[in-house]
Amino acid sequence: MSRNRTTDEAEDLAAGRATNGAAADWETSGDSNLADDDYAVALRGVVKRYPSGGGEPVVALDDVDFAARPGEFVAVVGPSGSGKSTLLNVLGLLDDPTSGRRLLGDTDVTSLSVAERTRARKESIGFVFQDFHLLPTLTAVENVAMPTAFDPGDASDRAANLLARFGLGDRLDHEPNELSGGQKQRVAIARSLINEPAVLLADEPTGNLDTDTGEAILAEFERVKAEGVAVIAVTHDPLVEEYADRVVDLTDGVLTGGLPGESDPHADADRRGGRDAGRTAPGPQVGGDRG
Ligand code: ADP
Repeated sequence: MSRNRTTDEAEDLAAGRATNGAAADWETSGDSNLADDDYAVALRGVVKRYPSGGGEPVVALDDVDFAARPGEFVAVVGPSGSGKSTLLNVLGLLDDPTSGRRLLGDTDVTSLSVAERTRARKESIGFVFQDFHLLPTLTAVENVAMPTAFDPGDASDRAANLLARFGLGDRLDHEPNELSGGQKQRVAIARSLINEPAVLLADEPTGNLDTDTGEAILAEFERVKAEGVAVIAVTHDPLVEEYADRVVDLTDGVLTGGLPGESDPHADADRRGGRDAGRTAPGPQVGGDRG
């Protein structure tokens, strides 16, 4: 199995994903009924505890219920240390819950082997990071195709098509240092879509971008979600909250409004009303013929 683990980790690195070496501490509850709605991804009663050097373990996620529907854009906000990265890692199958249940589509992915988890992550989840995680010596098209590096066949054409849809058709052979911040983030989004994920997880996706570029990236996310992808972004950026269909708050590991229908509908309407007043109609959709 060590060979599998090595290959899995190499694939993670190739795809620009962080790996978390924390060991799984399985203790699944076994009593939840998750298959009760049309969710792209769901957590029920998820607890994540980290050991803390002999003292009380840190409870990073405390009985978290969360779900996102296909085509929904959810922003997760909360102070530093509140568990946002842990939530993304658990949703993205980069780390496992200590207890509770996890579902991807209608598949229970609470307890998977390393190889199964890597496969599920590759097939269903895209990642976008604040600092892009592009490989500096590869061109844009090579970066976008990188998650398919261990697959048979050549994904260069698909990668080029995705880049063209993000307005980077004339930058295919540029390396990251020849691209602006917004262009790099578009390459990263294109890369996150190369395997047609059901769920796109974004960690501070506008954090290093100026407001105009951040808005352009959020407009891209709107087109991605129009393709039926559930987009979940951890953020401190009020602009992301403005674009989100739902904002959920994470404080000290406790998530509020994690399930669709739980958040304040008036707050959502106010946010969208304010945003839509200043915007034009969305542009052409991306990803229509992904795959
Ligand atoms: P955020 O992303 O909101 O800043 P994190 O998910 O990184 O929060 O962290 C939540 C809590 O879990 C913090 O108290 C943090 O110190 C702790 N934590 C995160 N990762 C680990 C780890 N690998 N080992 C021990 N404690 C951790």
